[in-house]
Amino acid sequence: MKLTTWGACGTVTGSCHLLEHRGFRLLLDCGAYQGEAEERNRAGFAFDPRQIDAVVLSHAHLDHAGRIPRLFHEGYQGRVYATAPTLKLVRPILEDALKLMKEDIRRARRKKLPVPELLWDDADIRLFNERGKPVPYYSPRKIGPFRLTLKNAGHLPGSAFVEVQAEGRTLVFSGDLGNRRKETLPDPDYPRVADLTLSESTYGDRPHRPFQETLVEFAEVLGRTLDGGGKVIIPSFALERAQEILFYIRRFEAEGQIPVAPVFVDSPLTTRVSEIYGQIQDAFSPLVQSFYRRGVDPFAPARLRYTRSVEESKQINELGGPAIIIAGSGMLSGGRILHHLRHHLPQPENAVVFVGYQPRGGLGHQLISGVTPVRIMGHEVAVRARVYSLGGFSGHAGRDELLDWLAAEQRIVLVHGEDAARQSLARRLRARGARVSLARLGQGYEI
Ligand SMILES: [Zn+2]
Repeated sequence: MKLTTWGACGTVTGSCHLLEHRGFRLLLDCGAYQGEAEERNRAGFAFDPRQIDAVVLSHAHLDHAGRIPRLFHEGYQGRVYATAPTLKLVRPILEDALKLMKEDIRRARRKKLPVPELLWDDADIRLFNERGKPVPYYSPRKIGPFRLTLKNAGHLPGSAFVEVQAEGRTLVFSGDLGNRRKETLPDPDYPRVADLTLSESTYGDRPHRPFQETLVEFAEVLGRTLDGGGKVIIPSFALERAQEILFYIRRFEAEGQIPVAPVFVDSPLTTRVSEIYGQIQDAFSPLVQSFYRRGVDPFAPARLRYTRSVEESKQINELGGPAIIIAGSGMLSGGRILHHLRHHLPQPENAVVFVGYQPRGGLGHQLISGVTPVRIMGHEVAVRARVYSLGGFSGHAGRDELLDWLAAEQRIVLVHGEDAARQSLARRLRARGARVSLARLGQGYEI
């Protein structure tokens, strides 16, 4: 087999790798670049999509699946293999990405700026829907000359790592490995010993903060703010993080740690993902499944409301009294979260709680650093609300979990990590005798 790394080399987005054997070409992930690297999505693929025979997706995040429609747009005609939950969750994510792309185009036209190209369209999402092929965990499938097995990566519902075998040789591709402390998802499985392991390294240089500390702080902040009559604003990603936050709010309420207050989920994408959660109950931890079996929705606090229209969203800001508002985008790059922040930052009784990474220089980073006033949607906004940043909710394995998962592996190629993270991880892996390389774009490996 020959592996070529075509993405997520020295960065944490754009996962995409090509595995070839006897003329058959299998693509592992087809992810979009995000954040500062987003412009790279405009460049074509480094290979001819018409020459790809099959694709396997590790999980539903955009940085692993977001260029699938573009692949179809450029003539790909094969199947897309993934677990059934992944195939279900990818659809609304892609539709949302298309909507945002179209909004960018409309905005550019209105402002008479250079109009970006539409990289793919509804027809390509339809093709993806038609060509998706569910593969259950642990059931090997023959694809061309390869034998493919998906195992649980514990990172999202349906997330998988991939084992590919051909003629007695084995490649393991980690996808993104989950955080074992997540109570809502099953723990990641361990891989078989491979001839080459292609592994993520996102948190390769640091262990996570103990999760229990995060939960204690989260309950304290919620309790204090709601008791004081304030609103808690939580910017969140739509997939997994928002539902996990709801899971803990429900638990804190049930245990009497916080008062029962209205909880608004003000993000159409989060609402769609939450609907799908009810259809993929097997993809969760035994704890979550036990709730469903008792007829309890584990992701629904007592006074949960999903807002639909923009009007409903605006009405939330006119409500008096305590409330929790969860809205996107998680990194404050747009979305309804901005008008909630604009309305609620000036009052000292309110709180903003960050539960995910905020890029340097962005609005979230400014708020965490104590900047006031800040600019939001063209307005100067004084910051009197308290701002908290809770580490520990990460959906990724921390350094020690990565080392544990890779314990038996002898030949490791590191992707999906900033250079500092993967260099640090590489040093520790080499110290115990493993051969480790840091993947570069377009580099090939014989297996
Ligand atoms: Zn991911």
